[in-house]
Amino acid sequence: MPSVSFVSLGCPKNLVDSEKMLGLLAEAGCPIVSGADGSADVLVVNTCGFLAASRDEAVGILKEAAGQKSRGEIKRLVVAGCLVQRDGRGLLDAVPEVDALVGVHNRADIVRAVTGKTPTQIRKTRAAKGSTKSAAATQGPPAGSLLFLGEYHASSWVDANKSDTARLRLTPSHYAYLRMSEGCNQKCTFCTIPSIRGPMHSKGVDEIMAEARELIADGAVEINLLGQDTTSYGIDLGYGPGLSGLLRTLNTLDGVEWIRLMYAYPSDFTDEMIDAIAECEHVAKYIDIPLQHINDRVLKAMYRRVTRKQTEALLEKLRTRIPGVSIRTTFIAGFPGETAAEHRDLRDFIRGFGFDMLGVFPYSNEPGTPAHRMKSHLPPELIDERVEELMLSQQQVAFKRAAARKGERLRVMIDGYGDSGVYPARHQGQAPDVDSVVYVDGGEYDPGQFVDVKIAGTRDYDLLARPATRSLSVLR
Ligand code: SF4
Repeated sequence: MPSVSFVSLGCPKNLVDSEKMLGLLAEAGCPIVSGADGSADVLVVNTCGFLAASRDEAVGILKEAAGQKSRGEIKRLVVAGCLVQRDGRGLLDAVPEVDALVGVHNRADIVRAVTGKTPTQIRKTRAAKGSTKSAAATQGPPAGSLLFLGEYHASSWVDANKSDTARLRLTPSHYAYLRMSEGCNQKCTFCTIPSIRGPMHSKGVDEIMAEARELIADGAVEINLLGQDTTSYGIDLGYGPGLSGLLRTLNTLDGVEWIRLMYAYPSDFTDEMIDAIAECEHVAKYIDIPLQHINDRVLKAMYRRVTRKQTEALLEKLRTRIPGVSIRTTFIAGFPGETAAEHRDLRDFIRGFGFDMLGVFPYSNEPGTPAHRMKSHLPPELIDERVEELMLSQQQVAFKRAAARKGERLRVMIDGYGDSGVYPARHQGQAPDVDSVVYVDGGEYDPGQFVDVKIAGTRDYDLLARPATRSLSVLR
Protein backbone atom coordinates (compact mmCIF):
# COMPACT_ATOMS: atom_id res chain seq x y z
CA MET A 1 0.00 0.00 0.00
CA PRO A 2 1.23 3.54 -0.60
CA SER A 3 2.81 5.26 2.38
CA VAL A 4 1.09 8.47 3.39
CA SER A 5 2.24 11.69 4.95
CA PHE A 6 -0.43 14.03 6.31
CA VAL A 7 -0.66 17.79 6.91
CA SER A 8 -3.58 19.02 9.02
CA LEU A 9 -4.46 22.72 8.86
CA GLY A 10 -7.08 24.82 10.64
CA CYS A 11 -9.19 24.35 13.73
CA PRO A 12 -9.71 21.39 16.09
CA LYS A 13 -12.82 20.36 14.09
CA ASN A 14 -10.60 19.88 11.08
CA LEU A 15 -8.12 18.04 13.29
CA VAL A 16 -10.84 15.51 14.17
CA ASP A 17 -11.41 14.97 10.44
CA SER A 18 -7.66 14.50 9.97
CA GLU A 19 -7.52 11.96 12.79
CA LYS A 20 -10.46 10.06 11.32
CA MET A 21 -8.93 10.01 7.83
CA LEU A 22 -5.61 8.81 9.27
CA GLY A 23 -7.51 6.07 11.11
CA LEU A 24 -9.18 4.98 7.86
CA LEU A 25 -5.88 4.98 5.97
CA ALA A 26 -4.10 3.02 8.70
CA GLU A 27 -6.97 0.52 8.80
CA ALA A 28 -6.63 0.10 5.01
CA GLY A 29 -2.97 -0.78 5.51
CA CYS A 30 -1.27 2.45 4.41
CA PRO A 31 1.90 3.13 6.41
CA ILE A 32 1.68 6.62 7.93
CA VAL A 33 5.05 8.33 7.72
CA SER A 34 6.57 11.70 8.45
CA GLY A 35 6.84 13.87 5.35
CA ALA A 36 10.25 15.12 6.39
CA ASP A 37 12.20 11.93 5.59
CA GLY A 38 10.98 11.77 1.99
CA SER A 39 9.53 8.28 2.38
CA ALA A 40 5.92 9.15 1.57
CA ASP A 41 4.29 8.05 -1.69
CA VAL A 42 1.26 10.25 -1.12
CA LEU A 43 0.88 13.58 0.63
CA VAL A 44 -2.58 14.46 1.99
CA VAL A 45 -3.26 18.08 2.98
CA ASN A 46 -6.43 18.60 5.00
CA THR A 47 -7.20 22.26 4.40
CA CYS A 48 -9.05 25.11 6.09
CA GLY A 49 -11.04 27.44 3.84
CA PHE A 50 -12.92 29.45 6.41
CA LEU A 51 -11.18 32.80 5.87
CA ALA A 52 -9.11 34.34 3.09
CA ALA A 53 -5.99 34.12 5.29
CA SER A 54 -6.45 30.38 5.90
CA ARG A 55 -7.08 29.83 2.19
CA ASP A 56 -3.85 31.66 1.31
CA GLU A 57 -1.93 29.55 3.82
CA ALA A 58 -3.37 26.33 2.38
CA VAL A 59 -2.63 27.29 -1.23
CA GLY A 60 0.96 28.19 -0.25
CA ILE A 61 1.44 24.74 1.28
CA LEU A 62 -0.14 23.07 -1.75
CA LYS A 63 2.21 24.91 -4.09
CA GLU A 64 5.19 23.66 -2.06
CA ALA A 65 3.73 20.15 -2.24
CA ALA A 66 3.32 20.51 -6.02
CA GLY A 67 7.05 21.27 -6.13
CA GLN A 68 7.75 18.06 -4.19
CA LYS A 69 5.66 16.15 -6.69
CA SER A 70 7.41 17.64 -9.71
CA ARG A 71 10.79 16.71 -8.15
CA GLY A 72 9.56 13.13 -7.71
CA GLU A 73 9.65 13.32 -3.90
CA ILE A 74 5.99 12.27 -3.71
CA LYS A 75 3.94 10.45 -6.31
CA ARG A 76 0.53 11.79 -5.52
CA LEU A 77 -1.03 14.89 -3.94
CA VAL A 78 -4.46 14.64 -2.30
CA VAL A 79 -6.32 17.67 -0.94
CA ALA A 80 -9.13 17.33 1.58
CA GLY A 81 -11.24 19.57 3.80
CA CYS A 82 -13.00 22.91 3.81
CA LEU A 83 -11.12 24.49 0.93
CA VAL A 84 -12.18 21.64 -1.35
CA GLN A 85 -15.75 22.03 -0.19
CA ARG A 86 -15.61 25.74 -0.83
CA ASP A 87 -13.63 26.01 -4.07
CA GLY A 88 -14.24 22.55 -5.61
CA ARG A 89 -12.41 22.00 -8.87
CA GLY A 90 -11.55 25.72 -8.89
CA LEU A 91 -8.65 24.79 -6.64
CA LEU A 92 -6.98 23.18 -9.67
CA ASP A 93 -6.54 26.62 -11.24
CA ALA A 94 -4.17 27.49 -8.41
CA VAL A 95 -2.54 24.04 -8.07
CA PRO A 96 -3.02 21.87 -11.21
CA GLU A 97 -0.71 19.16 -9.80
CA VAL A 98 -3.44 17.98 -7.38
CA ASP A 99 -4.51 14.37 -8.04
CA ALA A 100 -7.62 14.08 -5.87
CA LEU A 101 -10.01 16.40 -4.06
CA VAL A 102 -11.98 15.14 -1.06
CA GLY A 103 -14.66 17.40 0.43
CA VAL A 104 -15.69 17.51 4.09
CA HIS A 105 -18.80 15.44 3.47
CA ASN A 106 -16.84 12.71 1.73
CA ARG A 107 -13.99 12.12 4.11
CA ALA A 108 -14.69 8.36 4.11
CA ASP A 109 -13.49 8.45 0.49
CA ILE A 110 -9.94 9.32 1.54
CA VAL A 111 -8.87 5.68 1.09
CA ARG A 112 -10.07 5.71 -2.52
CA ALA A 113 -8.42 9.08 -3.14
CA VAL A 114 -5.08 7.78 -1.84
CA THR A 115 -5.08 4.19 -3.11
CA GLY A 116 -7.57 4.17 -5.97
CA LYS A 117 -9.52 1.41 -4.24
CA THR A 118 -12.40 1.42 -1.82
CA PRO A 119 -11.93 -0.19 1.61
CA THR A 120 -14.21 -3.04 0.46
CA GLN A 121 -12.03 -3.73 -2.61
CA ILE A 122 -8.94 -3.67 -0.39
CA ARG A 123 -10.51 -6.17 2.02
CA LYS A 124 -11.47 -8.46 -0.89
CA THR A 125 -7.94 -8.29 -2.31
CA ARG A 126 -6.53 -9.17 1.10
CA ALA A 127 -8.93 -12.06 1.52
CA ALA A 128 -8.07 -13.40 -1.95
CA LYS A 129 -4.36 -13.24 -1.21
CA GLY A 130 -4.83 -14.56 2.30
CA SER A 131 -2.68 -11.87 3.83
CA THR A 132 -3.04 -8.41 5.18
CA LYS A 133 0.48 -7.54 4.13
CA SER A 134 0.67 -8.70 0.55
CA ALA A 135 -2.19 -6.71 -0.87
CA ALA A 136 0.04 -5.40 -3.60
CA ALA A 137 -2.88 -3.38 -4.24
CA THR A 138 -1.71 -0.20 -5.57
CA GLN A 139 0.51 2.80 -5.45
CA GLY A 140 -2.50 5.03 -6.01
CA PRO A 141 -4.74 5.39 -9.04
CA PRO A 142 -3.09 5.87 -12.44
CA ALA A 143 -1.69 9.34 -13.01
CA GLY A 144 -4.13 11.72 -14.59
CA SER A 145 -7.24 10.15 -13.07
CA LEU A 146 -8.43 13.08 -11.03
CA LEU A 147 -10.91 12.14 -8.36
CA PHE A 148 -13.35 14.76 -7.17
CA LEU A 149 -15.18 13.60 -4.10
CA GLY A 150 -16.71 16.81 -2.89
CA GLU A 151 -20.42 16.50 -3.55
CA TYR A 152 -22.75 17.23 -0.66
CA HIS A 153 -25.71 14.95 -0.09
CA ALA A 154 -27.88 15.65 2.93
CA SER A 155 -27.46 12.07 4.07
CA SER A 156 -23.79 11.63 3.30
CA TRP A 157 -22.44 13.11 6.52
CA VAL A 158 -24.99 11.21 8.55
CA ASP A 159 -24.36 7.90 6.82
CA ALA A 160 -20.67 7.90 6.18
CA ASN A 161 -19.00 10.54 8.26
CA LYS A 162 -20.79 10.82 11.51
CA SER A 163 -18.74 8.42 13.55
CA ASP A 164 -15.39 9.71 14.73
CA THR A 165 -14.36 6.43 16.35
CA ALA A 166 -11.18 4.58 15.39
CA ARG A 167 -9.17 7.74 14.89
CA LEU A 168 -5.42 7.92 14.74
CA ARG A 169 -5.01 10.78 17.15
CA LEU A 170 -2.69 13.72 16.55
CA THR A 171 -3.08 15.31 19.99
CA PRO A 172 -1.08 14.02 22.96
CA SER A 173 -2.94 11.02 24.36
CA HIS A 174 -4.02 12.75 27.61
CA TYR A 175 -6.42 15.16 25.89
CA ALA A 176 -8.75 14.74 22.95
CA TYR A 177 -11.34 16.55 20.90
CA LEU A 178 -14.80 15.08 20.52
CA ARG A 179 -17.14 16.48 17.90
CA MET A 180 -20.72 16.47 19.21
CA SER A 181 -22.25 18.02 16.10
CA GLU A 182 -21.38 19.11 12.60
CA GLY A 183 -22.67 22.07 10.60
CA CYS A 184 -24.59 25.11 11.76
CA ASN A 185 -28.13 26.46 11.46
CA GLN A 186 -27.27 30.02 12.51
CA LYS A 187 -27.05 32.67 9.85
CA CYS A 188 -24.30 35.02 10.98
CA THR A 189 -23.85 37.34 8.04
CA PHE A 190 -20.02 37.19 7.97
CA CYS A 191 -19.68 33.42 8.16
CA THR A 192 -18.94 30.86 5.46
CA ILE A 193 -19.19 27.81 7.70
CA PRO A 194 -22.84 26.86 7.05
CA SER A 195 -22.14 26.94 3.30
CA ILE A 196 -19.08 24.70 3.76
CA ARG A 197 -20.14 22.35 6.54
CA GLY A 198 -23.89 22.29 5.83
CA PRO A 199 -26.82 22.38 8.28
CA MET A 200 -26.45 21.19 11.87
CA HIS A 201 -26.39 17.44 12.56
CA SER A 202 -26.01 16.42 16.19
CA LYS A 203 -24.66 13.02 17.13
CA GLY A 204 -26.82 10.97 19.45
CA VAL A 205 -25.92 10.83 23.15
CA ASP A 206 -25.11 7.09 22.92
CA GLU A 207 -22.74 7.69 20.05
CA ILE A 208 -20.99 10.53 21.88
CA MET A 209 -20.69 8.35 24.99
CA ALA A 210 -19.18 5.52 22.93
CA GLU A 211 -16.64 7.89 21.40
CA ALA A 212 -15.81 9.36 24.80
CA ARG A 213 -15.24 5.86 26.23
CA GLU A 214 -12.93 5.05 23.34
CA LEU A 215 -10.93 8.23 23.93
CA ILE A 216 -10.70 7.55 27.67
CA ALA A 217 -9.54 3.98 26.98
CA ASP A 218 -6.89 5.54 24.73
CA GLY A 219 -5.58 7.64 27.62
CA ALA A 220 -7.61 10.87 27.45
CA VAL A 221 -8.35 12.48 30.82
CA GLU A 222 -9.60 15.68 29.20
CA ILE A 223 -12.28 15.74 26.51
CA ASN A 224 -12.95 18.95 24.62
CA LEU A 225 -16.41 19.05 23.08
CA LEU A 226 -16.63 20.63 19.65
CA GLY A 227 -19.37 21.80 17.34
CA GLN A 228 -20.00 24.97 15.36
CA ASP A 229 -22.76 25.90 17.81
CA THR A 230 -22.68 23.66 20.88
CA THR A 231 -25.57 25.29 22.75
CA SER A 232 -27.99 24.15 20.01
CA TYR A 233 -26.98 20.54 20.62
CA GLY A 234 -29.78 18.03 20.06
CA ILE A 235 -32.44 20.39 18.66
CA ASP A 236 -32.20 18.76 15.21
CA LEU A 237 -32.64 15.33 16.87
CA GLY A 238 -35.64 16.43 18.93
CA TYR A 239 -33.57 15.57 22.02
CA GLY A 240 -35.35 17.51 24.77
CA PRO A 241 -32.62 17.60 27.48
CA GLY A 242 -30.25 19.20 24.92
CA LEU A 243 -26.77 20.26 25.95
CA SER A 244 -27.45 20.11 29.68
CA GLY A 245 -28.64 16.50 29.32
CA LEU A 246 -25.56 15.60 27.34
CA LEU A 247 -23.21 17.21 29.88
CA ARG A 248 -24.89 15.46 32.79
CA THR A 249 -24.63 12.11 30.98
CA LEU A 250 -20.97 12.63 30.08
CA ASN A 251 -20.29 13.56 33.70
CA THR A 252 -21.11 9.97 34.72
CA LEU A 253 -18.15 8.58 32.76
CA ASP A 254 -15.33 6.98 34.71
CA GLY A 255 -11.78 8.01 33.92
CA VAL A 256 -12.32 11.54 32.62
CA GLU A 257 -11.31 14.52 34.74
CA TRP A 258 -12.24 17.48 32.56
CA ILE A 259 -15.05 17.75 30.02
CA ARG A 260 -14.72 21.12 28.33
CA LEU A 261 -17.34 22.84 26.25
CA MET A 262 -16.14 24.93 23.30
CA TYR A 263 -18.01 27.32 20.95
CA ALA A 264 -21.17 28.10 22.94
CA TYR A 265 -23.51 30.37 20.97
CA PRO A 266 -24.79 33.10 23.34
CA SER A 267 -28.45 33.48 22.41
CA ASP A 268 -29.28 29.84 23.13
CA PHE A 269 -27.50 29.58 26.49
CA THR A 270 -30.17 28.43 28.96
CA ASP A 271 -30.27 28.37 32.76
CA GLU A 272 -30.30 24.55 32.63
CA MET A 273 -27.00 24.61 30.75
CA ILE A 274 -25.47 26.98 33.30
CA ASP A 275 -26.67 24.72 36.14
CA ALA A 276 -25.22 21.64 34.43
CA ILE A 277 -21.81 23.30 34.05
CA ALA A 278 -21.92 24.50 37.67
CA GLU A 279 -23.09 21.19 39.15
CA CYS A 280 -21.23 18.55 37.15
CA GLU A 281 -17.99 17.70 38.90
CA HIS A 282 -16.09 16.86 35.74
CA VAL A 283 -17.38 19.65 33.52
CA ALA A 284 -14.63 22.29 33.43
CA LYS A 285 -15.67 25.66 34.81
CA TYR A 286 -14.83 27.21 31.50
CA ILE A 287 -17.02 28.94 28.96
CA ASP A 288 -15.89 29.61 25.42
CA ILE A 289 -18.55 31.96 24.12
CA PRO A 290 -17.80 33.76 20.84
CA LEU A 291 -19.59 37.13 21.14
CA GLN A 292 -18.26 38.79 17.94
CA HIS A 293 -19.32 42.32 19.04
CA ILE A 294 -21.14 44.23 21.76
CA ASN A 295 -22.73 47.16 19.94
CA ASP A 296 -26.41 46.54 19.20
CA ARG A 297 -26.37 47.89 15.66
CA VAL A 298 -23.36 45.79 14.71
CA LEU A 299 -24.79 42.69 16.43
CA LYS A 300 -27.96 43.14 14.40
CA ALA A 301 -26.03 43.59 11.15
CA MET A 302 -24.13 40.39 12.03
CA TYR A 303 -27.48 38.67 12.64
CA ARG A 304 -26.36 37.43 16.03
CA ARG A 305 -29.86 37.36 17.57
CA VAL A 306 -28.64 38.81 20.84
CA THR A 307 -28.40 42.35 22.27
CA ARG A 308 -25.82 43.98 24.50
CA LYS A 309 -28.22 43.91 27.42
CA GLN A 310 -28.88 40.19 26.99
CA THR A 311 -25.16 39.50 26.59
CA GLU A 312 -24.30 41.39 29.78
CA ALA A 313 -27.07 39.62 31.69
CA LEU A 314 -25.82 36.24 30.51
CA LEU A 315 -22.19 36.99 31.38
CA GLU A 316 -23.24 38.19 34.81
CA LYS A 317 -25.23 34.99 35.35
CA LEU A 318 -22.29 32.84 34.25
CA ARG A 319 -19.99 34.55 36.72
CA THR A 320 -22.35 34.42 39.67
CA ARG A 321 -23.71 30.90 39.15
CA ILE A 322 -20.45 29.18 38.20
CA PRO A 323 -17.95 30.20 40.88
CA GLY A 324 -14.41 30.54 39.55
CA VAL A 325 -15.50 30.27 35.91
CA SER A 326 -13.02 31.29 33.21
CA ILE A 327 -14.62 33.00 30.22
CA ARG A 328 -13.08 33.07 26.77
CA THR A 329 -14.53 34.96 23.82
CA THR A 330 -13.72 36.15 20.32
CA PHE A 331 -14.61 39.43 18.63
CA ILE A 332 -14.51 40.68 15.07
CA ALA A 333 -12.97 44.11 14.44
CA GLY A 334 -13.89 46.23 11.44
CA PHE A 335 -17.23 44.71 10.43
CA PRO A 336 -18.68 46.67 7.44
CA GLY A 337 -19.99 50.04 8.57
CA GLU A 338 -18.48 49.80 12.08
CA THR A 339 -18.09 53.41 13.20
CA ALA A 340 -15.37 54.77 15.44
CA ALA A 341 -17.93 55.05 18.24
CA GLU A 342 -19.05 51.42 17.78
CA HIS A 343 -15.43 50.31 17.87
CA ARG A 344 -14.94 52.29 21.09
CA ASP A 345 -18.01 50.57 22.56
CA LEU A 346 -16.30 47.25 22.00
CA ARG A 347 -12.93 48.45 23.29
CA ASP A 348 -14.48 49.87 26.47
CA PHE A 349 -16.47 46.70 27.01
CA ILE A 350 -13.29 44.62 26.76
CA ARG A 351 -11.53 46.91 29.23
CA GLY A 352 -14.44 46.83 31.63
CA PHE A 353 -15.59 43.21 31.66
CA GLY A 354 -12.27 41.45 32.17
CA PHE A 355 -12.40 38.32 30.02
CA ASP A 356 -9.96 35.64 31.03
CA MET A 357 -9.04 34.95 27.43
CA LEU A 358 -9.96 36.80 24.27
CA GLY A 359 -9.19 36.60 20.56
CA VAL A 360 -9.81 39.30 17.95
CA PHE A 361 -10.27 38.48 14.27
CA PRO A 362 -9.96 41.17 11.63
CA TYR A 363 -13.17 41.18 9.59
CA SER A 364 -12.57 39.02 6.53
CA ASN A 365 -14.63 39.87 3.46
CA GLU A 366 -15.78 36.45 2.28
CA PRO A 367 -17.54 36.14 -1.09
CA GLY A 368 -20.94 34.49 -0.84
CA THR A 369 -21.77 35.90 2.60
CA PRO A 370 -24.42 38.61 3.18
CA ALA A 371 -21.76 40.85 4.76
CA HIS A 372 -19.79 40.71 1.50
CA ARG A 373 -22.66 42.54 -0.20
CA MET A 374 -22.91 45.22 2.51
CA LYS A 375 -21.81 48.77 1.91
CA SER A 376 -19.14 50.68 3.80
CA HIS A 377 -16.39 48.08 4.00
CA LEU A 378 -13.51 49.50 6.01
CA PRO A 379 -9.96 49.82 4.65
CA PRO A 380 -7.67 46.97 5.78
CA GLU A 381 -5.27 49.37 7.53
CA LEU A 382 -8.10 50.70 9.71
CA ILE A 383 -9.27 47.16 10.51
CA ASP A 384 -5.71 46.23 11.53
CA GLU A 385 -5.47 49.32 13.76
CA ARG A 386 -8.70 48.35 15.47
CA VAL A 387 -7.56 44.76 15.98
CA GLU A 388 -4.38 46.02 17.58
CA GLU A 389 -6.20 48.42 19.88
CA LEU A 390 -8.56 45.67 21.04
CA MET A 391 -5.74 43.21 21.60
CA LEU A 392 -3.71 45.76 23.57
CA SER A 393 -6.78 46.52 25.68
CA GLN A 394 -7.13 42.82 26.46
CA GLN A 395 -3.43 42.47 27.12
CA GLN A 396 -3.66 44.97 29.98
CA VAL A 397 -6.70 43.13 31.34
CA ALA A 398 -5.08 39.70 31.04
CA PHE A 399 -1.76 40.73 32.61
CA LYS A 400 -3.61 42.27 35.54
CA ARG A 401 -5.84 39.24 36.01
CA ALA A 402 -2.83 36.92 35.85
CA ALA A 403 -0.89 38.99 38.42
CA ALA A 404 -3.89 38.90 40.77
CA ARG A 405 -3.61 35.11 40.93
CA LYS A 406 -0.28 35.18 42.74
CA GLY A 407 -0.45 33.00 45.83
CA GLU A 408 -3.51 31.09 44.58
CA ARG A 409 -3.54 27.30 44.85
CA LEU A 410 -4.66 25.44 41.74
CA ARG A 411 -4.88 21.92 40.42
CA VAL A 412 -3.17 21.69 37.04
CA MET A 413 -2.70 18.99 34.44
CA ILE A 414 0.81 18.49 33.08
CA ASP A 415 0.76 18.95 29.30
CA GLY A 416 4.22 17.87 28.24
CA TYR A 417 7.77 17.09 29.31
CA GLY A 418 9.47 20.22 30.50
CA ASP A 419 12.81 21.77 29.64
CA SER A 420 15.16 22.18 32.60
CA GLY A 421 12.58 20.86 35.02
CA VAL A 422 9.86 23.38 34.08
CA TYR A 423 6.70 21.64 32.86
CA PRO A 424 3.94 23.23 30.75
CA ALA A 425 0.56 22.60 32.38
CA ARG A 426 -2.99 23.97 32.39
CA HIS A 427 -5.65 24.57 35.02
CA GLN A 428 -9.26 23.76 34.15
CA GLY A 429 -9.84 27.33 32.93
CA GLN A 430 -7.30 26.94 30.12
CA ALA A 431 -8.13 25.08 26.92
CA PRO A 432 -5.38 23.34 24.95
CA ASP A 433 -3.70 25.09 22.02
CA VAL A 434 -5.54 28.43 22.33
CA ASP A 435 -5.16 29.66 25.91
CA SER A 436 -2.33 30.68 28.20
CA VAL A 437 -0.56 28.01 30.27
CA VAL A 438 0.91 27.39 33.72
CA TYR A 439 4.62 26.57 33.98
CA VAL A 440 5.34 24.27 36.90
CA ASP A 441 8.85 24.42 38.32
CA GLY A 442 9.93 21.55 40.51
CA GLY A 443 9.18 17.86 40.53
CA GLU A 444 9.04 15.18 37.87
CA TYR A 445 5.84 14.45 36.00
CA ASP A 446 4.27 12.73 33.03
CA PRO A 447 1.79 14.36 30.64
CA GLY A 448 -1.77 13.92 31.89
CA GLN A 449 -0.72 13.90 35.55
CA PHE A 450 -2.58 16.24 37.93
CA VAL A 451 -0.57 18.33 40.36
CA ASP A 452 -1.53 20.80 43.09
CA VAL A 453 0.44 24.00 42.64
CA LYS A 454 0.77 27.46 44.09
CA ILE A 455 1.05 30.44 41.72
CA ALA A 456 4.34 32.22 42.29
CA GLY A 457 4.42 34.74 39.47
CA THR A 458 3.58 35.47 35.84
CA ARG A 459 5.27 35.65 32.48
CA ASP A 460 3.12 37.78 30.16
CA TYR A 461 -0.16 35.87 29.84
CA ASP A 462 1.18 32.72 31.51
CA LEU A 463 1.34 31.72 35.15
CA LEU A 464 4.45 30.41 36.93
CA ALA A 465 3.87 27.90 39.71
CA ARG A 466 5.56 25.63 42.21
CA PRO A 467 4.23 22.36 43.51
CA ALA A 468 2.01 23.29 46.45
CA THR A 469 3.75 20.84 48.73
CA ARG A 470 7.24 22.10 48.03
CA SER A 471 8.98 25.34 48.62
CA LEU A 472 11.60 26.23 46.01
CA SER A 473 13.68 29.31 46.39
CA VAL A 474 14.32 29.96 42.71
CA LEU A 475 11.72 30.09 39.96
CA ARG A 476 13.10 30.36 36.48
S1 SF4 B 1 -22.75 30.34 14.87
FE1 SF4 B 1 -20.60 30.26 14.29
S2 SF4 B 1 -20.48 28.72 12.65
FE2 SF4 B 1 -22.64 29.27 12.87
S3 SF4 B 1 -22.96 30.90 11.35
FE3 SF4 B 1 -22.47 31.93 13.30
S4 SF4 B 1 -20.23 32.24 13.27
FE4 SF4 B 1 -20.74 30.73 11.66
